[in-house]
Amino acid sequence: MSFKVINEEFDCKNCGTHNGKLPGSCRNHCTKCLFSLHVDESSPGDRLSPCHGPMTPESVYQDGKKGWMISHKCSKCKKIMVNKAAPDDNFDEIIRLSSETNPPKILN
Ligand SMILES: [Zn+2]
Ligand SMILES: [Zn+2]
Repeated sequence: MSFKVINEEFDCKNCGTHNGKLPGSCRNHCTKCLFSLHVDESSPGDRLSPCHGPMTPESVYQDGKKGWMISHKCSKCKKIMVNKAAPDDNFDEIIRLSSETNPPKILN
């Protein structure tokens, strides 16, 4: 399987932040609010989806090999896509999402 990586800059549809190119990877979500756009159909960077709906960051988790992964859900068609977090993503937002999805268990 092969797909071409499209590395392009964009202005976030959610918060208006300008996101520059990410060297060596393909940026597909906003570094500040982590919102994405539903442009990929099956693999990151394929740009085959006709949907173009806004994708909300739903949850995050840590992958042993890839690091932080962000799960996005399209607010238009409800499709879920998982994307690797970029090194310059807003880490506070990632932490906030991780504590929302995995509330710390209180042992007593
Ligand atoms: Zn944004
Ligand atoms: Zn969609």
